[in-house]
Amino acid sequence: MKKINLQNDIKNNENTQKTIIPIIYSYKEKRDKLLNEEQKEKFCEELRKIKEKSINNIVKLKKETIKNLSNQGINVIEAQTVKDAINIIKKIIGKEKTIIKSKSNTITEINLENALKNKKIIETDLGDFIIQLFKEKGIHPVLPSFHLTPKEISKKIKEKFNININPNPKEIVCFVRNILREKIFNAKIGITGANVISSDGSIFILENEGNISLISRIPEKHIILTSFDKIVETREEALKIIRASSIFGTGQDYPVYVNIISGPSKTADIENEIISGAQGAKEVYLILLDNKRTTILNSKFKELLYCINCGACLNFCPVYHQIFSRYGAKYFPGAKGVISSFFKESEKDAFNNGAFFCTTCQQCKENCPMKINLSDLIRDLRKELVKQQIEPSSITEMIDNVKKFGNPFGKIDTNKKPDKLYCC
Ligand code: SF4
Repeated sequence: MKKINLQNDIKNNENTQKTIIPIIYSYKEKRDKLLNEEQKEKFCEELRKIKEKSINNIVKLKKETIKNLSNQGINVIEAQTVKDAINIIKKIIGKEKTIIKSKSNTITEINLENALKNKKIIETDLGDFIIQLFKEKGIHPVLPSFHLTPKEISKKIKEKFNININPNPKEIVCFVRNILREKIFNAKIGITGANVISSDGSIFILENEGNISLISRIPEKHIILTSFDKIVETREEALKIIRASSIFGTGQDYPVYVNIISGPSKTADIENEIISGAQGAKEVYLILLDNKRTTILNSKFKELLYCINCGACLNFCPVYHQIFSRYGAKYFPGAKGVISSFFKESEKDAFNNGAFFCTTCQQCKENCPMKINLSDLIRDLRKELVKQQIEPSSITEMIDNVKKFGNPFGKIDTNKKPDKLYCC
């Protein structure tokens, strides 16, 4: 089992806990101001129905999506595997050397940076830009750099750019804005993820920073990498998912921007002839990644595909509060990441990512807009792992003790407490 050395990380952990946990709770306070308990329950019920219906009809909805978006001029390409997705992206990029990119779990899932080592990938989301400077892994899918202080960030900027920036958020944002604007305005290729796709023909991407709006407008080619489970039937349903991502992710009623992309930019201003490539992207590519999602769809873990990646389950997870992104997969922390890695990587990876860390407290389900029962899914995953004799040594010891001594502790000295406590 992967060893997590909390002793070495304790200082970092304390800082991280001090920084992140109050912010996370402030999001919940904001959410509770927007929706009272009754409204929240009603909204969650509606969201769950939308996703259940979509996932149950996903084969039909995917066909309609491909037909509608293709008719509107978007190049839609299906990628079965990570390798397929990378090859498709490489082909679209061609000889271009620089790619501007926004935050996306699906892009992290294919490890694009590693696959395009000979290209320059520029992160345009502030949190990811900071993480890239530190060569670190994001700590949270929505808040990747929240564990770093302004002092640490300005020190890193000094090291990398030889510029003195006062350690305050406003100055850091201003510095990064100027650097990134220049890069974005010179880029020919932009890559983003997507939050939702409606089968009637639109792709929805939410954001607060404005970088995605620029990526989808300035470069000539906009590549959107996402997965087919993001498809819902209608634009109205998609907007409900967008609102949920915002309320449950960061406690905002709506994000600052919702990009709704229904084709490459176009004009019919001269003799009514439709010409693509007016001011926005000339070419738009949508890559729909499978990467074992069909296997998940046909398994008892199907519920995982209802997820909208808002990150609310992590915000209230007691295990995440202790070890943060060391719990879960590199493309998604926490229980969702653990279960995903069972399908996308291996049983051993699911075990090493923390299949036995979950306390089954159900705080994730309580706070999930889709009411996904991650604790139950984790229990099912554990059953699968135990069948293959992949389990923590403490469980093996406990079972051996029960068989041998009739109790979980082993040989009992009635004058002292057992050395170890076991929990099932
Ligand atoms: S499991 Fe639920 S709470 Fe967690 S990211 Fe997905 S939708 Fe959000």
